[in-house]
Amino acid sequence: MEIRKDFLPLSRPSIGEKEIEGVVSCLKSGWITTGPLCKAFEEKFCELTGASHALSVSSGTAGMHLLLLGLDIKPGDEMITPSMTFASTLNMIALSGARPVFVDIHYDTLNINADLIEGKITERTKGIIPVHFAGAPVDMDKILSIAKKYDLFVIEDAAHGLGAYYKGVHVGGWGQIAIFSFHPLKNITTGEGGMITHNDDYLESRLRLLRFHGIERDAWKRYGKGGNPKYDIKTPGYKYNLTDIQAALGLAQLSRLEELNNHRRELADLYRRKLEGVEGLELPGVPDYPHTHAWHLFIIKVTSMDRERFMQKLSEYQIGYGIHFPAGHRLSYIQERYKIKKGELKETERADSKLVSLPLFPDMKEEDVSYVCEAIREILT
Ligand SMILES: *Cc1c(COP(=O)(O)O)cnc(C)c1O
Repeated sequence: MEIRKDFLPLSRPSIGEKEIEGVVSCLKSGWITTGPLCKAFEEKFCELTGASHALSVSSGTAGMHLLLLGLDIKPGDEMITPSMTFASTLNMIALSGARPVFVDIHYDTLNINADLIEGKITERTKGIIPVHFAGAPVDMDKILSIAKKYDLFVIEDAAHGLGAYYKGVHVGGWGQIAIFSFHPLKNITTGEGGMITHNDDYLESRLRLLRFHGIERDAWKRYGKGGNPKYDIKTPGYKYNLTDIQAALGLAQLSRLEELNNHRRELADLYRRKLEGVEGLELPGVPDYPHTHAWHLFIIKVTSMDRERFMQKLSEYQIGYGIHFPAGHRLSYIQERYKIKKGELKETERADSKLVSLPLFPDMKEEDVSYVCEAIREILT
């Protein structure tokens, strides 16, 4: 086959006129940091998830940090999480002084195996952080019943899950806590950014203080007409607020969520049709319960060839790729600190060396998918 001239990236944000107009109008408005647009963006997340509170933050990672602090997670505590997740979650747990306790995944979907959670619970366990991996919702019914039985927090890592539904409920819609990410790779973007959704008034007051220096009122309430510029600080806080420029981008993106995700889904279906039966790779599995997949990523497992060589070949064909993720328990500091035994996370390790994410983004063309599939056939034969 003929090799294309231009590079096909793993992902690229879909930025249209609506996004550009939104941002320009914010820039012209005279208020560009946290203000009315962040508030409107937060309200949209309450509508989408049914949560009573949504808090915009500077990244998904910042959201996780605030939550662990807001929930008083501290040294000696344990948080249950898959090892197959982004390192940011593990970093936040480690930095809080708590210990990440890893649960194995289902090899096919890469989602946490909820049947193995109960076996990892101790008297130190404070919560469970499941990840809706690649956009496939985890088995929430099972996770919620365990959390209820042992009185644990559930923090859904919904960084991949915007637009994903489990049995008709949008992720983040169970009265629990969820975080979303708007990194440019995710289903919608604000450049960088994130959102926390939850239903707890007390937690909300803590999170709001921790998000912005520990100051009670928002800047736009202090500097607006008739505002009071005085403040006191009762607890020190961070600087994790989102800006209105970012929220303008996010509002425009969110209004296109269905369009963007539908296109992702069509491309994922096409990948599946074109790669069906190709030897030397495995297609992503999907959950067997009713769900809507958000297709954040399309991840194959390369079984007949060394992954490094496979990725090298993709590069030669001008195709971008990713690894989501290197298993967390194999990262140097996690290995040294928490000493996870080899073989303890069998399915995670079985998947770990084979995962490759293929290009998938809303503005990708069907011809691009065909090109990638043809290249993969050539590479593997
Ligand atoms: C992207 C991501 C995050 C963190 O989001 P940021 O906004 O980049 O901080 C957390 N968890 C998972 C699974 C992610 O993919």
